Amino acid sequence: MRIGIPNALFTSYHLPFWQEFFMQLGMDIVVSGDSCKETIDIGSKLIPHEFCIPVKVFLGHIVDLLSQKVDLILLPRMIDKKNHEFFCPKLTGLPEIVKYALNLDDSLFFSPEVICNGLNPQIVRYPQPKIKSMRTLRQAELKAEQNWQWTLERCRKEQSTLLQIARDLKNSSSADQIQVGLLGYAYILYDLWMSKATIQTLGSLDTHISTWEMVESEKIESRLKELKRPMFWNFGRILLGAGLNFLADPKIDGVIYVTPFGCGPDSITVKLLSLQAAITHKPFLQITLDEHSEDGHLKTRLEAFVDMLVQGKEGQSFENNFSLFRTGTRLSENV
Ligand code: SF4
Repeated sequence: MRIGIPNALFTSYHLPFWQEFFMQLGMDIVVSGDSCKETIDIGSKLIPHEFCIPVKVFLGHIVDLLSQKVDLILLPRMIDKKNHEFFCPKLTGLPEIVKYALNLDDSLFFSPEVICNGLNPQIVRYPQPKIKSMRTLRQAELKAEQNWQWTLERCRKEQSTLLQIARDLKNSSSADQIQVGLLGYAYILYDLWMSKATIQTLGSLDTHISTWEMVESEKIESRLKELKRPMFWNFGRILLGAGLNFLADPKIDGVIYVTPFGCGPDSITVKLLSLQAAITHKPFLQITLDEHSEDGHLKTRLEAFVDMLVQGKEGQSFENNFSLFRTGTRLSENV
């Protein structure tokens, strides 16, 4: 049996988990291709404009898998683990969004219910009829969880992103490099087309990037305890905890948050982090992307931000427009 995995949203982020799971079940795995303009053009025509770009891209990936004549498509439903932690409704309702947008039959999809324990995916319910016996499914789950844990451990140990580990690439690192804390949903940052190659551009500017996967969970949880009220978005918690850690870390020169236009959870997370950045006097850049964003424009903004960080590191004064700060101050002193 050929199972299709959309290379988008959480199925792309959890790819090491799902690949191992289906391999253990003896299925042939087909991963949809990289996103491109056509992917978003297809997705945009299927759902209302108000949807965020990752969901539109996801639909484009489903169409890609349909064209590859797979027998089944992975379409997990991300559900809440506890009462006070929620997934974005678009992720919980994704099976319905896809089925109704494309008018397809349920039998084409494999839609288990999945929770996230921190960064770890865990299957909590299988759809009926089950594709294999419960015992075989549980064994495959165990191996998939082990593979995921092993991949995350490598991220922390090698200080590399999940994508760099998957592609056997190294995260450049030297003591005098500019250190950037990079935040944003994995399914945007690691999608070359959607992120407009943010990671690659930062690499070409000779910066070292740190992402949430490289921060130990204890540090994330301890930062989250500083909040007066708990953060209730599931992945938003991770990004917020990692972001607070970057803002407090003297080794990190500046923080960049890449967010899709119209993302509900990010409207809270980004705001909280930008306020904290003002308090900690750490440069913070928010990049909002939609289907009309252009590579050149983004590159210029990243270059300007990194230039500013370089000036700050060299102790040069620079003008800062932000009303909370005095102008002409040194980065090391005040900004
Ligand atoms: S969390 Fe944001 S980017 Fe992700 S599906 Fe929801 S609205 Fe879209």
